[in-house]
Amino acid sequence: MQRRNFFQGTAVAAAAAVTGCAASGPQQARTPFSVPGTYIPVAGSDQLFPVRRIYCIGRNYAAHAREMGSDPSREPPFFFQKPTDAIQFVAVGTMPDHPYPPLTKNYHYEAELVAAIGKGGRDIPVARALEHVWGYTLGLDMTRRDLQRAMGDQKKPWEIGKSFDRSAPIGPLHPVAQTGHFTKGAIWLKVNGQLKQNADLNQMIWSVAEQVSKLSEAFELVPGDIIYSGTPENVGPVVRGDVIEMHIDGLPNLSVKVV
Ligand code: MN
Repeated sequence: MQRRNFFQGTAVAAAAAVTGCAASGPQQARTPFSVPGTYIPVAGSDQLFPVRRIYCIGRNYAAHAREMGSDPSREPPFFFQKPTDAIQFVAVGTMPDHPYPPLTKNYHYEAELVAAIGKGGRDIPVARALEHVWGYTLGLDMTRRDLQRAMGDQKKPWEIGKSFDRSAPIGPLHPVAQTGHFTKGAIWLKVNGQLKQNADLNQMIWSVAEQVSKLSEAFELVPGDIIYSGTPENVGPVVRGDVIEMHIDGLPNLSVKVV
């Protein structure tokens, strides 16, 4: 099936940026090998959403901030990134294998609402921030908790705990035009059918609009950026053989099997 990229021109512009030539001609940069782009299928459509960057907000539900050992009332939002190719797309009605990553003995799930940016900007005011959101989906911010903690204890970057291969399982994107914005509704996660996380999106400390606004003060947001909006309390470990199922009201569930 032929899929259509709705941010057309990106590939030509990228090639032009590499070669330093104008983006006017069909000329492509010559590369020694090809690197696949990262795309998320759009639900009910043949479109693909091209992913530029994955931003994640930390400690965005009060009870989760407390379980991570911090005081949610005094903390401004903070963000980290995962590499774009950490995406593991999970089609509706499937349960793909999710590989247990190396180096960890404490591998955690984090269920999160994900917002996808379709209009870029800098210093975006909260009141206009949702105009920049193109769609939503649900995703898992998989975490090597032992490595994250060890690095935090040493005041070193978190990356090895958060930003590893396939650490971002994600469902198909749903355009805002069809679903509206997600400001409330149940978010839950089960392991082997047992309820582990269970909260409401309205318990976020910083709403999606506030996250977009705050992020845009630090980074220029660009179409193709996605934002993992934080996880509720009761994060916990999985082992090989476990089945993770996650739900957000208004979206189809996402399931993976840890192998
Ligand atoms: Mn998270």
